[in-house]
Amino acid sequence: MTLPFLPFSKPTIDEATIAAVGDVLRSGWITSGPKVLAFEDMLSEYFGGRPVRTFNSGTCTMEIALRIAGIGVGDEVITTPISWVATANVIIEVGATPVFADIDPVTRNIDLDKLEAAITPRTKAIIPVYLSGLPVDMERLYAIANKYDLRVVEDAAQALGSSWHGKRIGAFGDMVSFSFQANKNITTSEGGCLVLNNADEARVAEKYRLQGVTRSGFDGLDVDVLGGKFNMTDVAATIGLGQFVHLDTITATRRRLAKHYFAQFGADFEASTGAQLPVADLENSNWHMFQLVLPERITRAHFMEQMMARQIGIGYHYPSIHLLSLYRARGFTEGMFPVAERVGRRIVSLPMFSTMNESDVERAVDAVKSVLQ
Ligand SMILES: *Cc1c(COP(=O)(O)O)cnc(C)c1O
Repeated sequence: MTLPFLPFSKPTIDEATIAAVGDVLRSGWITSGPKVLAFEDMLSEYFGGRPVRTFNSGTCTMEIALRIAGIGVGDEVITTPISWVATANVIIEVGATPVFADIDPVTRNIDLDKLEAAITPRTKAIIPVYLSGLPVDMERLYAIANKYDLRVVEDAAQALGSSWHGKRIGAFGDMVSFSFQANKNITTSEGGCLVLNNADEARVAEKYRLQGVTRSGFDGLDVDVLGGKFNMTDVAATIGLGQFVHLDTITATRRRLAKHYFAQFGADFEASTGAQLPVADLENSNWHMFQLVLPERITRAHFMEQMMARQIGIGYHYPSIHLLSLYRARGFTEGMFPVAERVGRRIVSLPMFSTMNESDVERAVDAVKSVLQ
């Protein structure tokens, strides 16, 4: 008997949410409206009362955060080479210069010593990324930001539900950006949100979100900055509202599945295969992904093909950004960030989603072991 294909990620939308979306579609108001406001209120409450604004992607959320911080031409922004390319693209989008610092081989997040070493007088901001939902050392991050007077735009796209020693990611810090793209822990199909410091920043965020427009009175309308079309719809916000009530359960389930992954791989897996497991952090991480770094003796393509033959879906997150053509054309080359280059070639994401069960984990682990041994 062949078991059905196990994807590496899958969104789950409950029937109540599907019905609520139907109600919105029948209501006569399908763009930004009461559902967006309700979703923003729910998010704000979750983040300890900090102001939150929603957008139509995590990407534009980070771009708007950089604009709010006044980042532009002549400024340098430091980030990690191991992220979705959006993280670096938004720096170019606002006219600033992306600067990379290599990653820590164990956490696979930006190495904070290398980040500090990359700071120049032109550095204006840092974009840390919490790969798979694992935060960086948040005390150290903000100590560096304060020491050099830098803004922080946290790319917490993967870290909704993660925490740092009991404090929720997003409930503290500078500006914190989340994504609700379909593969994230909760989704609005596409979307994002930004946690801000105060009401002034929230007003600026609203301007950039909608063509730079400010309205006053019955018919007053002015534009004083160049904004775009980045608003979330009530259709998307309704999905978000329906998903959000499950967040704690989703996080708990993912942690349970991660724990089972570690138990199934066993203590000798790394020594016997040469593959590297993720950091076994069952406290802070929301386990957005469970990622292995493969040994040198097998190519990722061959590994993926062999896993596919065993009906197990595998993702790869991510190839190192600095080696993509757009970035090579800006002067980045092989050898600049050796840890990121190795991890970017060898990292794979195993199946991880909240409707998986323990036997799915066992199937995935058995398949990995049979391919690697
Ligand atoms: C998903 C993701 C983004 C982009 O979010 P979108 O909503 O797809 O625009 C950015 N950074 C990281 C780390 C992500 O995982």
